[in-house]
Amino acid sequence: MPGAIQMPDQILAELGIREPEELEIEAIAEYCGATIRYRPLSGCEARIIGCRDRAIITINESSWRGRQRFSGGHELGHWMHDRGRIAFQCDYKMYVHGWRATNPETRANDFASDLLLPLSMFQPRARGLPVIFTSVRALADAFKMSLTATAIRLVEHGGLPSMLICNSPQKREWFVASPELSGRLWPLARPEEGSIAFSLLGNAAEGKKTADVRCDHWINHPRAESYWIKEDSLRLHEGTVLSLLWWEDEKQLLDLDEYEEERGNKRSDGRTNWE
Ligand SMILES: [Zn+2]
Repeated sequence: MPGAIQMPDQILAELGIREPEELEIEAIAEYCGATIRYRPLSGCEARIIGCRDRAIITINESSWRGRQRFSGGHELGHWMHDRGRIAFQCDYKMYVHGWRATNPETRANDFASDLLLPLSMFQPRARGLPVIFTSVRALADAFKMSLTATAIRLVEHGGLPSMLICNSPQKREWFVASPELSGRLWPLARPEEGSIAFSLLGNAAEGKKTADVRCDHWINHPRAESYWIKEDSLRLHEGTVLSLLWWEDEKQLLDLDEYEEERGNKRSDGRTNWE
């Protein structure tokens, strides 16, 4: 039985796990002192009850496998971070919306990603793949993981300039950007007319899901209207829309370097002030 708090890469190393097929969530959880069981649940996807060094994780038996596995990793994240006496009950919304705040749900989501989409296995398979949901689905299948978690991983670690943006019918919930865009380009508060997400949020029937769209429908930058990006959007539960934006044509990024230099107003933290 391992002691103290352990991080996912440490756990995988101790168990000698090197391939996605070996990422058996039940065995990993057991190693960490938590037993996973599958039961009918209503009102939540998974829950955990823990006391001292043992925990029971209950997962909705009727969910699909990718979500069950993610739930297992998420609950295990609660256990590893807050072990002792704990009780959490987690619903699907937390998996979709709980990504960019500092709270136990975000920590649990991050733990699940690091455990079940470990970078040492994910990066070699993801590098250079087109940033569209077809790639996300292929990776999600290989790792038997949820779509949202896999999409975040692809944007942050796939090596191509891209963003993933989550809009609920009410507001933008969160976004993530690849390292070359992070802190340099920002999405508008809401996607504008002309984007696929705009139609989907307006309850249009799902039609074309991937298209080249003008950058200014999505991005807040004085020169955005001169560029095009590839958008792939899909509607999740309760009208939430997940959008992948990919700077397939990297001209905007080259021009951005020039623009930043011209303006010469790079701040000391490396970010840039746009007007
Ligand atoms: Zn949770």
